[in-house]
Amino acid sequence: MSGQADIALIGLAVMGQNLILNMDEKGFVVCACNRTVAKVKEFLANEAKDTKVIGADSLEDMVSKLKSPRKVMLLVKAGSAVDDFIQQLVPLLSAGDVIIDGGNSEYQDTSRRCDELAKLGLLFVGSGVSGGEEGARHGPSLMPGGHEAAWPLIQPIFQAICAKADGEPCCEWVGDGGAGHFVKMVHNGIEYGDMQLICEAYHIMQSLGLSADQMADEFGKWNSAELDSFLIEITRDILKYKDGKGYLLERIRDTAGQKGTGKWTAIAALQYGVPVTLIGEAVFSRCLSALKDERVQASSVLKGPSTKAQVANLTKFLDDIKHALYCAKIVSYAQGFMLMREAARENKWRLNYGGIALMWRGGCIIRSVFLGNIKDAYTSQPELSNLLLDDFFKKAIERGQDSWREVVANAFRWGIPVPALSTALSFYDGYRTAKLPANLLQAQRDYFGAHTYELLGQEGQFHHTNWTGT
Ligand code: NAP
Repeated sequence: MSGQADIALIGLAVMGQNLILNMDEKGFVVCACNRTVAKVKEFLANEAKDTKVIGADSLEDMVSKLKSPRKVMLLVKAGSAVDDFIQQLVPLLSAGDVIIDGGNSEYQDTSRRCDELAKLGLLFVGSGVSGGEEGARHGPSLMPGGHEAAWPLIQPIFQAICAKADGEPCCEWVGDGGAGHFVKMVHNGIEYGDMQLICEAYHIMQSLGLSADQMADEFGKWNSAELDSFLIEITRDILKYKDGKGYLLERIRDTAGQKGTGKWTAIAALQYGVPVTLIGEAVFSRCLSALKDERVQASSVLKGPSTKAQVANLTKFLDDIKHALYCAKIVSYAQGFMLMREAARENKWRLNYGGIALMWRGGCIIRSVFLGNIKDAYTSQPELSNLLLDDFFKKAIERGQDSWREVVANAFRWGIPVPALSTALSFYDGYRTAKLPANLLQAQRDYFGAHTYELLGQEGQFHHTNWTGT
């Protein structure tokens, strides 16, 4: 017998609770469930008081309260908790029912779960959910992928609760298997890159002696033009924030944490052989920041340049920093989309790149006006091989590259680390170079390891030379 609930949600931590309240507000009846059952009662009595949300004190109870085909969404800690719940749910569900994992699961785990459950007739969806607590409550960016037959069953709920950008839902079907979680992983990697670029701009401004309010004003200006984005906006607010002891930011320890999705993106880039250099540098920058004690020791031993950071025209140089950040950001997104393209090719996913840009356009941490430009690029050229080749972005880099080079060169001269700004510039120069010095590299490989080389104009034929003539 069918129950009354449209969907069940397991996991009553911050994400689960907020997503349930969002679904309730959009008119769906949600059944709430949690490993620690006491939290269900607490939730119903407090946050979900005066809503249509119902509770379940066991998985059996939960399943009996669901309309058929049943939809069960997990928002629990990624890893073994997801597998444990799936194992317990399988005997309680019937063919055609849907299990959705909305946590930050690794995309290979999602592919595996999808295959295993398909054999049992169950439809599995791995969905990226972005936007944190606020997004979950009022409209997240949702990136569902997995068993495509599940999409028509969950689409009305997902597209009702997600963020909207220019009236369109920030949620579309991404692709088979782990495609949704892969795209969410790249989103998180790009978030690492965006944050690192902003930190480098802040570091340069600080070195030039700008006050917190001056920096906040500058970020505020940037936020009203092409860099208009959530991360620039919160940076402005963070810089201005004062408590009883003055500016808070200055007193925060300069060691960054990480939960792993940036690292996964960098690992995937290495595995797929795609040069996603900026996200890699962003991850390593967090690692370097964590070596606080070593850095403090080294700061009194290792000498840098004696040139002090100063410029003749501050207004012009601040504009240069904005252009540098914008150009590097274009490279970072180009690299992220290169990674998705290669993964799609290997996994036979049919990714809709314009649709992905739209999904990230609202609701998530990297939401920005810029993603609208990416959406436009892929809408006009769905087969675009690289974002750098799109006219809009090509022209933006043409306009900004002198500034970008000026900022990176000065930062190097002044001894200010700019790993993300500079790696993006090196990538740009490498990508636009028809003849790289890899001919020498190939010769070296052949010299010491007989790895052979091809000659220009004779591709496909491999040669080996006895370089020492002995
Ligand atoms: P969380 O702290 O990651 O997980 C807490 C939830 O998982 C609780 O319901 C907990 O149940 C359950 N849980 C933990 N270990 C378990 C186990 N071994 N077996 C069964 N249940 C277990 O919660 P969250 O921050 O709300 O995040 C939920 C998911 O969304 C995670 O995958 C997270 O990575 C992802 N996510 C989070 C954010 C965010 O901003 N927080 C944003 C996007 C995505 P008990 O109450 O019984 O302990």
